[in-house]
Amino acid sequence: MTRTDVEARLAELARAVEACRACPLGGQRTRAVFGVGNPQADLMFVGEAPGFHEDKQGEPFVGAAGQLLTKLLRERVGLDRSDVYIANTLKCRPPGNRDPLPDEIEACRPHLRQQLKLIRPRVVVTLGNFASKLLLNTQTGITRLRGQRYPFGWAVLIPTFHPAAALRGGAAMRGLETDLYEVRRVLDELPAPTPPDPQQLGLFETTAL
Ligand code: SF4
Repeated sequence: MTRTDVEARLAELARAVEACRACPLGGQRTRAVFGVGNPQADLMFVGEAPGFHEDKQGEPFVGAAGQLLTKLLRERVGLDRSDVYIANTLKCRPPGNRDPLPDEIEACRPHLRQQLKLIRPRVVVTLGNFASKLLLNTQTGITRLRGQRYPFGWAVLIPTFHPAAALRGGAAMRGLETDLYEVRRVLDELPAPTPPDPQQLGLFETTAL
C-alpha cells in the first residue's frame, strides 16, 4: 500500500473509533484518542490508555509522560515524534485514570490490531504492563519481561516501562533509557526496507493480538 492508501485506511479506522461504543468508556470520554505519527513508521509505541490531557486533546502522550517520551526518543533513539507512530491499548480514557479492565482491553483490541496491520512497523515498543502483556500474550509483568527482544509477526517487540512510571525516577527511568538505546540498536540492525510481500500481510494474525 502507498502512504496515501495507509493514511486513508487509518483515517477510516479513526472515524470508526470516534463512533465506537463497544465498551462503556465510549460514553464517558471527551475525545477518542486514536493515535498519531508517521503512517509508515518503522517504530511504533503502544502505551496503556489516554490520561486527562490526552482525553481533552485527542492525542496520545501529550502530558508529562508524553513529554518525557518525546525527549528520550530524541536523545536515546535520535528520532522525532513525527518519525514514529504512537498509540494506546485503549482508545478512550478510563475514569480517574484507573487501570484498564480486561473486558475493555478485549473490546478495543481490534482497533490496535488494525493499526498494527496498516502501519506494519518493524519495531514495536510496548510501554508498561498492559500493552506488554496484551501483545506478548502473557501474565508476566514488565519488570521480568523487559531486557529482551521478542518476535512479533514480522516485527521485533521490545517491552519497557511506561514513561509515567519513569517520571518517578529510579529503576523505571534507568530501564526505559536502557531499552530505548536497545531500540536504536535494533533499528540500526534492520535490513533495508523491502516492498511489502502480500504473503506476509497476514503475519500479525499469528501473534497474540
Ligand atoms: S475504549 Fe476502545 S472499545 Fe471501548 S469505546 Fe473506546 S474505542 Fe471502543
